[in-house]
Amino acid sequence: MAKRFYLDSLGCKVNSYEVSLFREPLRKLGMEETDSPEEADYIILNGCAVTARSVQKGRQRIRKLRRLAPRAKILAMGCLVKSAPGLALELGADYEIPTKGRNEALSLLLEDRAPAHSFDGGYEEPLNESEQTGLRAYLKVQDGCSRYCSYCLIPYLRGPSCSRKKEDCLREAEELALSHPEIVVTGIEVAFYGKDLGDGSYRLSDLIEDILEHCPSLRRLRLSSLEEGAVDEKMLSLFASEPRLCSHVHLALQSGCDKTLRAMGRPYDQKRFLSVVEKLRKARPGIAITTDVIVGFPGESEEDFEESLSFCRKVGFAEIHAFPYSVRKGTKAASMAGQVDASTKKDREHRMLSLSKELRASFESVNYGTEKEVLLESYDAKGKCWSGHTSDYLLVKVDDHGYSRGEAVKVLYSRENAED
Ligand code: SF4
Repeated sequence: MAKRFYLDSLGCKVNSYEVSLFREPLRKLGMEETDSPEEADYIILNGCAVTARSVQKGRQRIRKLRRLAPRAKILAMGCLVKSAPGLALELGADYEIPTKGRNEALSLLLEDRAPAHSFDGGYEEPLNESEQTGLRAYLKVQDGCSRYCSYCLIPYLRGPSCSRKKEDCLREAEELALSHPEIVVTGIEVAFYGKDLGDGSYRLSDLIEDILEHCPSLRRLRLSSLEEGAVDEKMLSLFASEPRLCSHVHLALQSGCDKTLRAMGRPYDQKRFLSVVEKLRKARPGIAITTDVIVGFPGESEEDFEESLSFCRKVGFAEIHAFPYSVRKGTKAASMAGQVDASTKKDREHRMLSLSKELRASFESVNYGTEKEVLLESYDAKGKCWSGHTSDYLLVKVDDHGYSRGEAVKVLYSRENAED
């Protein structure tokens, strides 16, 4: 019987992309993928360490995988491993590698040997293209981050920003476009794209323009998350003129209070952020703008939090992902005065999420009655209907009229066909 493998990832889209790189080589070795870890001979888990909660989740996942698959060889990788070397092994993994060296990981796993050298340095071009099974494929164009925001461990875990060469991005985009109607451009901090390539003049917006030009059959190109600094004139003109570029940007705000933004080391203030939002809305009316907000950052007073809350309301985000500030040892913020207690953070998270719910409902209701193109992603045989996303990432139910998966159909968006 063929050996089986199980792929698992926690955290960001980059992690799912990275783990998908193992699919093709394992299949080429004659192995079959399984959805059940219990059946697997090999398990690869890409873990996250962005918050203390993510690390906790990673620990639990390794223990669970070990329990479910006592005989499988488990390889743990990613930020989880880099943040606490040795932890995955203690918890039951057989091997661990940090954020670089994924190309080595396979032979490590199959040949049952210890890593022979350090894996750090430069963008690690995968040996194979990622093999992704969904309609939406991820294209990783960048790794690492050079910002060093005061609360974030990522630059220490993944190193400074390194961009994937334009030619490699375009080659993989062309490949992906052959079998996926939608590509999501992803990276750890894509606003840095290009700064370390040549003279630094080729930017993210240039890459987006080139991908669209090289992939005429591609239906949609989505940006996974963006910083306001990446929204330059070319990006705005692409939003204005290129319907294949999805009407959704996840623009990380982190706080709506200028004092907190300065303490976080973020490179903008309310005024600058708002002006970018206005330019985006002018270029693409109705665009969905979602965001991340950290609540309970050290020194954030009740007034600061109220300011953040009311700024988020003013921007009118389509959704807010709120996270309570999490102390990450080794960062500047970990030793800042004015740490906020857990119950205050919980309360602020709750209030920020209530605002998000309210803004989401309002974004949905503004869109009721408008015609939307829905990419049919999954079929519910019982209800005889499809479900899929619009360009602005609304989830919609569509009655079946003999459609096929991957087809794009036009529907009138309404309270009745909106899904949560
Ligand atoms: S920009 Fe800031 S929050 Fe984002 S990965 Fe870099 S250091 Fe972390």
